[in-house]
Amino acid sequence: MTDAAPLLATARTAVAEAMGVARMIQGRIKETPGLVKSDRSPVTVADFAVQALICLRLRATLGEFLLVGEESADVLRSEAGAAVREAVVAAVRMVWSEISPDQVLAAIDSGAHDATAPAYWTLDPIDGTKGFLRGGQYAISLAFIEDAEVTAGVMGCPNLSPDFDRSFADPDPFGLLYYASRGGGAWASAPDGVASGGTEVRCGTSEGPVRVCESIESGHSKQDTTARVIAALGGAGTPARLDSQCKYAVVARGQADAYLRLPTRADYVENIWDHAAGMLVAAEAGAEITDIDGRPLDFSCGKGLSRNRGIICASPRFHARILEAIRAINP
Ligand SMILES: [Mg+2]
Repeated sequence: MTDAAPLLATARTAVAEAMGVARMIQGRIKETPGLVKSDRSPVTVADFAVQALICLRLRATLGEFLLVGEESADVLRSEAGAAVREAVVAAVRMVWSEISPDQVLAAIDSGAHDATAPAYWTLDPIDGTKGFLRGGQYAISLAFIEDAEVTAGVMGCPNLSPDFDRSFADPDPFGLLYYASRGGGAWASAPDGVASGGTEVRCGTSEGPVRVCESIESGHSKQDTTARVIAALGGAGTPARLDSQCKYAVVARGQADAYLRLPTRADYVENIWDHAAGMLVAAEAGAEITDIDGRPLDFSCGKGLSRNRGIICASPRFHARILEAIRAINP
């Protein structure tokens, strides 16, 4: 097994660096060109720039590496991608001032591993692109997977506040970095606190009614079933809604008791980069994470969690009860 400590340190540095650039792009998003991918999902300058920045930092620190990234530079080589390409190169030059456009495209494409090696990184450069576009929550999510286990994970949450009373719709000016290694606990720090230690994060043990969070996008999770699960557990009110893997951090730090992602289509397969880092942070904080059938997330199937259906991430007090409620609603 690879020693996770140096990998985690490198990943923290890489994600923290990319958070600053992503924040700057989000601040100017109205003047920034964007594209739509073949699956009709939006992709921004930040998605490409962050993938390039993280790959460049991993290579500078670790040498050769394998990474399964969400993005590919193909579209940036096309005529339609020219304006975005130019903006991506400008963004990457904020950190690597001398870099050429070809080097930026090559850096993005160094994240094209197919998840077949025994050990590799996986990256969602901007998790929650729709949230990013509307000025909301998003995450930069980087994890290391070895022998089908997530052994290190870093989640940059540039708009997440340490203040639990601050609305998720009100972006924090600094954000937080969450990180974990297998067996090493879950930690939070300020993005610029990479050199120093973090604060340990533990999931909630509150005695009160269940507090749930879920996606803003109704296409990502069956919100009506979430409401029925909350009612079945004796809870009330609407769940907290926020974009991105930040939901794992919200459970990990005890701000919510559960994050539910209930499949909206039978054939939907979750991507590993949408869950690897967040799952490890929540698990190391004491949360239990399975799919809706109670199975652990299975990272042995390549790029997709094809043996799982949906996600239940919850504190131990609620996890079994949520599974039971889902079984009763949707046997
Ligand atoms: Mg993404």
